[in-house]
Amino acid sequence: MKSFIFVSSLLLSFLSEGLRAEALSIKAKQGEVVSLSLKFEPGVRLVHGIFLNQKIPFFKKSAEEFFALIGIDMAQAPGPQPLEVVWRKGEEVRREVHVIDVIAGAFGTEAITLPKEMVDLDPTTLARVNDEKAQILRVFNQSEDQRRWEGRFLVPVEGKILGTFGFRRMLNGQLRNQHSGEDIGAPLETSVLASNDGKIVLVGDFYFNGHSVVIDHGMGLFTMYFHLLSATVKEGDLVKRGEAIGLVGKSGRATGPHLHWGARLNSARVNPFSLVSSVK
Ligand SMILES: [Zn+2]
Repeated sequence: MKSFIFVSSLLLSFLSEGLRAEALSIKAKQGEVVSLSLKFEPGVRLVHGIFLNQKIPFFKKSAEEFFALIGIDMAQAPGPQPLEVVWRKGEEVRREVHVIDVIAGAFGTEAITLPKEMVDLDPTTLARVNDEKAQILRVFNQSEDQRRWEGRFLVPVEGKILGTFGFRRMLNGQLRNQHSGEDIGAPLETSVLASNDGKIVLVGDFYFNGHSVVIDHGMGLFTMYFHLLSATVKEGDLVKRGEAIGLVGKSGRATGPHLHWGARLNSARVNPFSLVSSVK
């Protein structure tokens, strides 16, 4: 109930300050990327959004139009959530509030059997896995303050899309975390391409993810490429969309050659294919 009260009290201020006749109500599934364009009066600048305590950058499209990509985490509870939009006109700060109604993703489940030692980790391996988790989180917490991506996102490898995003996995009969990326089956050594322009912020060999590359596209957007045979870039490199960054492998905990492709947008784990379809 509380969230409804919050929305309606903000709506009152939206009515007195906003531009649109009524608040937008946007439906979005768990794990989706919402692409939102808003028109403003001339002279508006510094537009940003706030959604689930995350600051959402809006980018200028034309003199009066701004757009944003908003990520819905794959585990975000279904139901309405306010999206506050704030901007400046002269010295004045203005805002309005819209609603994003989160719909369940209807993800499947998958049972996998792996050697016992790859599922029940010994203390040394568990310590390694925890260190690696912390390392990758540090990378996610420092996205560049500059947008590097431009135009459409491309699918990084040609192959069979396995549709495993959001799957709840049973590993040797135990329920595990949701699968946070999409798997694309492809032959060993197929080239893996950067989905868009960005900076290589992580190259490493991880217990679960194997040889991995993470690209920071700037302002809170990352794409991840796991289970590579090898990476062909190093940390700090700037890459262009379509540039080769590695080769398909089956390193880490993988049952066969494939690319695990992931995306993170303002801390939300989203389906990378939703990036491809939402940015035209
Ligand atoms: Zn995967």
